[in-house]
Amino acid sequence: MNASFAPTIRYDWTRTEITALFALPFSDLMFQAQSVHRAHFNPNEVQISTLCSIKTGACPEDCAYCPQSARYDTGLEREKLMAVEKVIEEAKAAKASGATRFCMGAAWRSPKNKDMPYVTTMVQGVKALGLETCMTLGMLDESQAQELADAGLDYYNHNLDTSPEYYGEIITTRTYQDRLETLANVRKAGMKVCCGGIVGMGEEENDRAGLLQQLANMSEHPESVPINMLVKVGGTPLENEADLDPFDFLRTIAVARILMPQSHVRLSAGREQMNEQTQAMAFLAGANSIFYGEKLLTTPNPEANKDMQLFKKLGIKPEAYEVHEDESEQEASIVHQLQEAAMDSMFYNAAK
Ligand code: SF4
Repeated sequence: MNASFAPTIRYDWTRTEITALFALPFSDLMFQAQSVHRAHFNPNEVQISTLCSIKTGACPEDCAYCPQSARYDTGLEREKLMAVEKVIEEAKAAKASGATRFCMGAAWRSPKNKDMPYVTTMVQGVKALGLETCMTLGMLDESQAQELADAGLDYYNHNLDTSPEYYGEIITTRTYQDRLETLANVRKAGMKVCCGGIVGMGEEENDRAGLLQQLANMSEHPESVPINMLVKVGGTPLENEADLDPFDFLRTIAVARILMPQSHVRLSAGREQMNEQTQAMAFLAGANSIFYGEKLLTTPNPEANKDMQLFKKLGIKPEAYEVHEDESEQEASIVHQLQEAAMDSMFYNAAK
């Protein structure tokens, strides 16, 4: 094996090294990414998460891409914090549809202390269903992170969004350092980290390299690395941004895979706008996690079926639920059966 393909885990990538990866001939980059991917993962499995917005809109932050910011008129309907029972209902539907992780997102700068009992109850309820739990609630201080960890939260999502240099073009209401501190609080509390960014916001390739450098040089790589393609929403400052060439997106996925060999690299926002071929190439580049949108929860969902049809065409299976040591064999077997049933129903012939 060529030494450059050796699946060494490093935390000291230089910008020059990362830029050189971006500059490789496309086939060489894809081959290297796929080689690293195969050394750490089953290349034909993709982890599925479902996203649920537990509090929508009216966010005081000014993230230039985000329709949930109260500063932009995007026509988004604001919603208060969802009732715990409703969240559990949605989690049950997500599980029946094959998701193994349930991600709950609230459009907050940071949670208020009065919100904490509600969100921790949500975590406990979703976990009791046998799902992995993830939350994204904005900035966390040390004690909030600990409260969530004590409730059993598995993952916390907090993105860096872009490079430190370009960050000020996108957000002014919180600093890069604020974000790094939240991530440090999450790690300290013992939770897994979900952290990535968005491409196609008008940044240069050097900024994409800068984002990945920040992620890859953390003392532990984020377990989950979402790479989002900007979704241009009318009313946000980025609504007229030029399209990013899909090859630049694919290069970002491939470099993320090479830099963080053991992380799940997630195709996140923007996937709906990609054709099947681009998505297939992203899996080839080492992406191995996707979000099913919220729409999945209201059946029938043609979008979800389209995903499953693509999985079928590519011979990809949903990644199996990871059984934790303290779960009984019986529960694991029930989860397995549910997954099988979900697979069968998802692979029906939509043309009939
Ligand atoms: S903090 Fe989150 S919800 Fe608020 S504007 Fe930024 S991305 Fe949107």
